[in-house]
Amino acid sequence: MSFATNLRCRECHREYPLAATHVCEYCFGPVEVTYDYDGIRKAVSRDGIARGPASLWRYAEFLPCERESAIDIGAGFTPLVRAKHLGKALGLNNLYVKNDTVNPTWSFKDRVVTVAASRARELGFEKLACASTGNLANSVSAHAAAGGMEAVVFIPHDLELGKVLGSSIYGPTLVKVQGNYDAVNRLCAELAGSYPWAFVNVNVRPYYSEGSKTLGFEVAEQLGWRAPDHCVVPIASGSLFVKIRKGFDEFAKVGLIEPAKTHMSGAQAAGCSPVATAWAEGSMNFRPQRPHTIAKSLAIGNPADGYYSLVQLQQTGGSCGMVEDDEIVAGMKLLAETEGIFAETAGGVTVATLKQLAAQGKIDADEVTVAFITGAGFKTGEAVADALKPPLEIDANVESFESAYRALHAAAGVA
Ligand SMILES: *Cc1c(COP(=O)(O)O)cnc(C)c1O
Ligand SMILES: [Zn+2]
Repeated sequence: MSFATNLRCRECHREYPLAATHVCEYCFGPVEVTYDYDGIRKAVSRDGIARGPASLWRYAEFLPCERESAIDIGAGFTPLVRAKHLGKALGLNNLYVKNDTVNPTWSFKDRVVTVAASRARELGFEKLACASTGNLANSVSAHAAAGGMEAVVFIPHDLELGKVLGSSIYGPTLVKVQGNYDAVNRLCAELAGSYPWAFVNVNVRPYYSEGSKTLGFEVAEQLGWRAPDHCVVPIASGSLFVKIRKGFDEFAKVGLIEPAKTHMSGAQAAGCSPVATAWAEGSMNFRPQRPHTIAKSLAIGNPADGYYSLVQLQQTGGSCGMVEDDEIVAGMKLLAETEGIFAETAGGVTVATLKQLAAQGKIDADEVTVAFITGAGFKTGEAVADALKPPLEIDANVESFESAYRALHAAAGVA
């Protein structure tokens, strides 16, 4: 059973019923779901959670909808990998990688969408819509299909082929918009005012964003019921970054873990770095940017949770790094070559930033550190294709193989 009680304005704390609203009528602040934490404390236990389903619905008591009626295609409960080789390469002794590339549509967006779609259906919506940088479109399309809903998804015109296909296959109405993500988002905000649709990241955003905190729950559970010392998280709108910590705080609030003192660090691409730039300048007010980066899934120039991300960086003693496109590609290769995980460009941003912060001494070598890898690499193959070793091409005989293999080793300087 759900213990959600209300929506509450993050600024003026006025409360609203659990409907499809995302801003406060009085101050236009964002609203957030509140819960009956005493009720949750009585209902949950470590053992009870451990016996739950192998998806994020094992944490249903902390989510704003009923587990029984959820649209559950298996989002969440992804591996937490002890990243010994990557850690060694970066000088970090206790590094973990949270591998969210293995979700049903290969990105962490399945977490937010399973919650938003389930709540939208509970509220009686028949159509699911979104403004997307690609991964969200994939996930909305898949969950709508599985939930018997119609999907209308809006994407920027210049998305990677993998991300377009990854939506089309589920049969949504896919709309390519001439403009960048911020333009797509503005359009959807306007449409949400006149169409009776659930736009997962507009009018049902308060439910959507609750899905992200399950990454915090999972990491705490998988570390043996404790929060890590340091997290490195990619920032697009900043929602994920802020909600992972909410996950640690809620677990502590109901007594499942000790209160968390986790340093929360953010990762952005230099070509879209409103939060990292403000942080470097010591400012709490970010300036919107026009994105230009290969990390398209993070290319939000005017982040909805940018301010709250800066507050969190300050409150938790975290850092925010930014990395260039070539470092992003190097980060993707490093993760693949050390840990066997093929991440998309956002993962390259996270690994490259992790490397940067470790080299700058902003992450202590012994801290239990978790890098959040949020999307799979096959969707953004273009980004790395030219940076990879080409295969050996040979005729189908032993001599041809041996001469090509010898030439390869000679070229690499290995006798
Ligand atoms: C959406 C997305 C993020 C971050 O999302 P926020 O808007 O900051 O919550 C990170 N990685 C990938 C791959 C994404 O698709
Ligand atoms: Zn308000």
